[in-house]
Amino acid sequence: MANKTNSTRMPRSSEVTLTCACGEHFAATVYHTVNVTLEPRLLYRLLAGQLNVATCPNCGRQVEMTQPFIYHDMRRGLLAYVYHRSDVEQEDREVLLEHLRRAYVQAVEEAERLTHAQEQRMVDAAPKPAIRRRSDSDDADALRATLEPEAPPMQVIFGVSELTALVDSLLEPEEKLGRVALTARNPGAAEKERLLSIARRMAGQTACETMVEEDGEEYTIWLYGSRATVNMIARALHTSA
Ligand SMILES: [Zn+2]
Repeated sequence: MANKTNSTRMPRSSEVTLTCACGEHFAATVYHTVNVTLEPRLLYRLLAGQLNVATCPNCGRQVEMTQPFIYHDMRRGLLAYVYHRSDVEQEDREVLLEHLRRAYVQAVEEAERLTHAQEQRMVDAAPKPAIRRRSDSDDADALRATLEPEAPPMQVIFGVSELTALVDSLLEPEEKLGRVALTARNPGAAEKERLLSIARRMAGQTACETMVEEDGEEYTIWLYGSRATVNMIARALHTSA
């Protein structure tokens, strides 16, 4: 089957320029399709309230981007069109449903491509049978039936906090959000830079995310991710301290 690319396909993310209340203009990434099976970090950004939220480099204010997005968790069978607000006027719903229809088709295509790629790897890895009882195509159909998950029905979720609550309820305790802080009191620019580079290196090695918080004299870098991972980092920090 030819792998056609739909020219109207919504990009996974795009770059936008935001204007902060302080007057600063800065670039940020907004996600249109959030597939947490392919990008588990985005699951933790959502849980930490940081998905499609950018921090102003000038004043540290957080700016929320309010575009609707698709949330897809293939493993847990959740496919949702997420509208930013929880109050939606009737006349907005027609527009919303048209977006939804297009987005649903794209998300299903993406899941199918991934599943077919996995299936092909399994077929390649499987030992060749000495005797063929059935035709190759029968075997391929049987394999496809086993491996291809039914695309779950698309839900419409109004409000990012509603999505967050739903996603959190699907997680095992060890998968829930955990975070650990690196803090300094009144750090100079060099000290901040040093802490940030430590935090970013750790985050990179453990597939965690970082978030900076400045509160008066206190400078904090949060490392966040799954509880299991964060507990491991906290133990490592404790033994190296
Ligand atoms: Zn600002």
